[in-house]
Amino acid sequence: MTIGVLALQGDFEAHADLLAALGADARAVRTPEELSDLDGLVLPGGESTTMTLGIERERLAGPLRELIRSGTPTLATCAGLIVLDRQHLGILDVTTRRNAFGRQVRSFETQIDLAGMPGGPLCAVFIRAPWVEEAGPGVEVLAEVDGHPVAVRQANVLAVAFHPELTEDTRLHRWLLDSVSAPRARTAA
Ligand code: GLN
Repeated sequence: MTIGVLALQGDFEAHADLLAALGADARAVRTPEELSDLDGLVLPGGESTTMTLGIERERLAGPLRELIRSGTPTLATCAGLIVLDRQHLGILDVTTRRNAFGRQVRSFETQIDLAGMPGGPLCAVFIRAPWVEEAGPGVEVLAEVDGHPVAVRQANVLAVAFHPELTEDTRLHRWLLDSVSAPRARTAA
């Protein structure tokens, strides 16, 4: 099973290490060619403006849209959530607010309940995190902090405002790998 991790900027290495520890082949993706034959995809956290410029520079926008819309299980975290929103790649039907909790002061860790996730609350690390400001009807809100959505799902895409790769809890990455193994519901996002 090969999972691509967008590696233009941000903390892609932590995701790749975790995926490898879970038994997947993690491939750093920097070019359109590296998107071929992927079973799943991770868009890491980092800085969404830099990441978006990198996507434009490498002509990755079209191929990324195609891959995700064809039903490839995708996990997006923090800046990755922003990159998928209406103002950026337009894959998720959401508007996000960057640095929504405040810039530095509001980097925090909290326990959140994620709808449909067995095993109890998840430890979530927020670093200059966005939240979802508005979501369309096809978007399921899975968790909120202070009344603001911080985890959403739309078809094959799970997007969270926090950093699951920085904790010991591997449930979100396992969700990705399980989605790859599950019979494909090839619904476009
Ligand atoms: N604040 C960053 C941005 O707006 C996202 C932060 C993160 O990915 N941890 O791009």
